[in-house]
Amino acid sequence: MINIKKFSYTDILGWSISRYDRFSNCKRQYFYDYYAKFDEAIPLEKIQFLKNLTSKALEVGNIVHDIIRDMLKRYQISSKPINKNKLFKYSLNLTERYCNSKTFFEHYYNGELISNSEIYEKVKNMLENLLNSSRFTWLEKNALPSSSEWIIEPDGFGETRINNYKVFCKVDFLFPILDKIFIMDWKTGKVDMNKHSRQIMGYSLWVNYHFGKDVSDIIPILTYLYPQYNEQYIKINNFLIKEFANTVAEETKDMYNFLINIEKNIPKDKKYFPSTSNLFFCKRCNYKEICSNK
Ligand code: SF4
Repeated sequence: MINIKKFSYTDILGWSISRYDRFSNCKRQYFYDYYAKFDEAIPLEKIQFLKNLTSKALEVGNIVHDIIRDMLKRYQISSKPINKNKLFKYSLNLTERYCNSKTFFEHYYNGELISNSEIYEKVKNMLENLLNSSRFTWLEKNALPSSSEWIIEPDGFGETRINNYKVFCKVDFLFPILDKIFIMDWKTGKVDMNKHSRQIMGYSLWVNYHFGKDVSDIIPILTYLYPQYNEQYIKINNFLIKEFANTVAEETKDMYNFLINIEKNIPKDKKYFPSTSNLFFCKRCNYKEICSNK
């Protein structure tokens, strides 16, 4: 059984790919996402409601991740092959449950009627792409014997430390084969090597921190599930990892600059979090209802 180091809770902000992306795209959106309770003008409930809006693409990704997680956990209990009919029935139920309990961006802002079956078709398509891939057969043969050692979406947010800074990198699926550790990350959207290779660097550092594995023994695989199964391999080495660790430190300090108290993670006034000038981000922003920049 692999044990993951736990950290005591602190208020200090933790770097993550998604957090820094948000920070880079629009400081005002970042404020709403992470510091809503400090907004003196807009009720917290309103900001939280908008924050929780989902979208069709987001929800497909969410559902696919949860089904693959559950399927892999089932493999940890029994090595019997998955019954596809049962899996798809489970997937349909989960899709309906998730979609019926959420408000979609497309419905809230554009009045679009959300079709659960349209979402399910995409979910099913992605699951079929995975199940029919040669990688899946390979996993059943090579990774299944050590399923008790698998790490599948570990509890919490994947907290770790990079250059002593708090960082969150939550892996989808990690498993050992002989002296190597494989990391698989499920992707349900478009190939984005710039963003996704940063994510992989973070996962590799997470493995390095928690298991003391040298990066040469870590094999990360970006797994795109749509429109067809497609894997991308990211080259990692000690130089790239060191460079990435320095970037994380710099980006964390960038975010610290917007705080009046770093230890307690208290932000400056909202006026110091400007709206983006790139209206492309505004079009798809959950907060456009309350933002004067829309
Ligand atoms: S609507 Fe535009 S400016 Fe306003 S928070 Fe969203 S992305 Fe930022």
